[in-house]
Amino acid sequence: KLWNFSAGPAILPPVVLERAAEAVHELRQDGHAKDAAGVGMSILEISHRSAPYEAITFGAEKLVHEVLGVPETHQVLFLQGGASLQFVMVPLNLREADKFAAYVDTGVWSGRAIAESEGLGPTRVVASSKATNYDRIPEFPAADTYAGASYLHITTNNTIYGTEYPEIPEAQGGVPLVIDFSSHAGARPMALERAALGYAGAQKNLGPSGVTLVYVRKDLLAKKPAAHVPVYLRYGTHAKEPSLYNTPNTFGVLVLKLVLEWMRDEGGLAAIGARNERKARRLYDVLDHSKVFQPHAQPGSRSHMNVTWTCGRAPEAQREAIAKKFLAEAQALGFDGLKGHRSVGGFRASIYNAFPEAGVVALCEFITEFERRL
Ligand code: PLP
Repeated sequence: KLWNFSAGPAILPPVVLERAAEAVHELRQDGHAKDAAGVGMSILEISHRSAPYEAITFGAEKLVHEVLGVPETHQVLFLQGGASLQFVMVPLNLREADKFAAYVDTGVWSGRAIAESEGLGPTRVVASSKATNYDRIPEFPAADTYAGASYLHITTNNTIYGTEYPEIPEAQGGVPLVIDFSSHAGARPMALERAALGYAGAQKNLGPSGVTLVYVRKDLLAKKPAAHVPVYLRYGTHAKEPSLYNTPNTFGVLVLKLVLEWMRDEGGLAAIGARNERKARRLYDVLDHSKVFQPHAQPGSRSHMNVTWTCGRAPEAQREAIAKKFLAEAQALGFDGLKGHRSVGGFRASIYNAFPEAGVVALCEFITEFERRL
């Protein structure tokens, strides 16, 4: 048995894999509706201008509203280029003349977003948890620090450090809030309507790599940016013919739709959120009671998706050897992908929506048993 703790691309529900595999052989009508007739072609062979593909992309869009709770005031887009392209498209499209862009710095991915903005115009970091190696979400910046900004950008789940905003905050003074919610999209009910724009690389909770979910408040599409924006990089271009301006990642959008259907059938975000809460609580509980291991993220800022920890409670001279032994034994037992990112060291267990509770139970048992043997 292999437990895949990858931070992304990450585990998908078995039923999604089965249906995606079927669609690779032959796509069914109505965006691969159950029991519908086959169209005689694979999803990989079909035109993005065909009726069956339109059913897929518009069906997926509808499910983003219904299942994830993106309000109708916002346009849903399926783009390419990963969340990383959004680091560029956000400042290109939302930066207004004579205004600065405000960012909260919560780690590597915020840092990349900040760097792109800095290359395009005045940028201010209005809060940061760098001083404590990003072990927490900093206090939300006071309204006067970002008053007059074109927008305020936050990273709502920090995949590398394992921190998460307990809820989507509200920006004051009418400043549009922009969220990178790549690594916890669909993890639980969230006040997505508080963001003017949100984006998420699909490859964690939502589907395969190569699709980025973007939702953008419709009034922002009409805003005039500070400088010329290449046609392809305008949100308006992709909103006009929704996600069909150029050839989309047709297979990726189908898988995203299958994942959203799975989420709906599991009982929606409330049920998924409750399960994620149980999974994360169990793991943090074991780590909090450990005499060897120490969670990296502080209580109140802890991610339900990416749990990070080190050997911080072991004597310093022994930490490296313990970490090596832990990873080697874990790997041999089938716990895959537990090595932490180099910025934190130690370990990281990514336990996204499709990661089974049984895998968390097994990991907790292994941690406890490993510690007993030390
Ligand atoms: N933002 C966050 C929070 C991420 O976790 C990642 C990737 O892990 C990215 C952005 C970059 O995403 P992509 O590889 O889709 O460009």
